[in-house]
Amino acid sequence: MIINKLLMGAACGLLSASISLSANAGQTEDALIAKIVAAYGGDALINAKALRIQNSNRIISVGQSANPEVTDIAINKSDLFVDFANRRSSLENWNENRGGTFLNQAVFDGTSGHAYNHLAKTRSENAGLTFFSVGGGTMRTTDTTLVRILLENRDAAVKGDDVVLTGNVHETLTFPMEGSPDLTIYVNKETGLLTKMRRENPVAGALDYVFSAYKKSDGVTYASQAAFLIAGQPNTLTVHRKLEVNPNLNGVFVAPDGYRDQGANIDTSEMQVRELADGVYYAGQNGGHSIFVDAGDHFIAAGGYAGLTARFDAVKEAAGVDKPLGQQIVTHQHSDHIGGMGEAATLGANFVTVENHVRPVQASLSEPLPDDRITLVDGSMSLANGAVEIYDIATAHADHYLLVYLPELNLVFSADHFSTNLQEGLPTANRNMVTFREAVEALDLDIDGFLGAHGTRQLTMADLRAATEGYTVSVCPVSRVICAD
Ligand SMILES: [Zn+2]
Repeated sequence: MIINKLLMGAACGLLSASISLSANAGQTEDALIAKIVAAYGGDALINAKALRIQNSNRIISVGQSANPEVTDIAINKSDLFVDFANRRSSLENWNENRGGTFLNQAVFDGTSGHAYNHLAKTRSENAGLTFFSVGGGTMRTTDTTLVRILLENRDAAVKGDDVVLTGNVHETLTFPMEGSPDLTIYVNKETGLLTKMRRENPVAGALDYVFSAYKKSDGVTYASQAAFLIAGQPNTLTVHRKLEVNPNLNGVFVAPDGYRDQGANIDTSEMQVRELADGVYYAGQNGGHSIFVDAGDHFIAAGGYAGLTARFDAVKEAAGVDKPLGQQIVTHQHSDHIGGMGEAATLGANFVTVENHVRPVQASLSEPLPDDRITLVDGSMSLANGAVEIYDIATAHADHYLLVYLPELNLVFSADHFSTNLQEGLPTANRNMVTFREAVEALDLDIDGFLGAHGTRQLTMADLRAATEGYTVSVCPVSRVICAD
């Protein structure tokens, strides 16, 4: 950041000694920061030890809808407590979408992190949770908390050029945030209020956070409506927000009684290749796994997360063979699951997909694949002399989903429906899983095992039935404040 500051100063023509340069730059930034702080409540904001932010959101499922031609819109309510004084944060989320209803909470109590599922009444320790990883997402979508983050990083803030947004001149200021690319805020020159924040994601592109409908709570200003856009497309709309200054923190960071510990997860941080049978491999790391079947002169793969080439290389090395990737089965069109399609195209694979997914699959490639490299499944298909069967099923998750079944192993490979990395116990049911079970049972296949694109523990048909038995969509329990109104 210091280098940036000097470079930007030099670009403005201030080519005097670096000490006076940074002093000049600092004064400009201090004046703007003073204006922002005054607009957001002055001492009322500076002295606030904690804030509570309650949001009512609509989630626009860009690239994650059941049908790629019709965007799903889901309901989310969130309740964030951010305790600046003690560096603790708690975020509770209520989600209602086609996959069911979900009530989860992530808590970082200043020392350790925990995740709670308040519907299933389960808990799990999560060493990855920190003050910023729990609260950071909501803190970025809230103008008031952005000003607090700015104050914590004011020495590294750099003023940029003024820009005009919707006819109003805005001053810009860039500053760092822990665990994030740098943030640039757009400050209305007249009011000192934030109209927008932008940061750049190396993969997704520009992320914009837009603020409106400003209100005051105990002297602190906040935007009561906000929007979050990815590469210019709306992703989350905050249709209503409440901000509370110095909320009651009693019980917020205390573990609930009687919750069942989910236990440890399987470590998937290293690339692993499992030979399931002669010529059949399951490979991957972290959240992305694929299945590979040796079809004689080529391999067939399913599971399209980014990193496909590394998984394929690991399989060829483990197998001690070098054959091309002949066919890539596209399980479904969701943006994360077609993240590796560019790699598949480069590896020379033909794509096996359905008509409904061709547009998003082609759009994920740097140049479109010719028609003769795309095979469309109409209901079902069999590859490699019957070693691989493919079934087009409909679930809550995707109107068209290509289920991969290996009859010689009685094994299903699937994504986003039924898998787990838990060392013991079953994944918590949802409507995706329930509708998946119904669709799979209707196929009347002889299934012994399930492996997933995300979860690496092999599960059974009995597990699927046990996990989903008696599932109903829960309403938001009135015992939780987030469920009120
Ligand atoms: Zn999906």
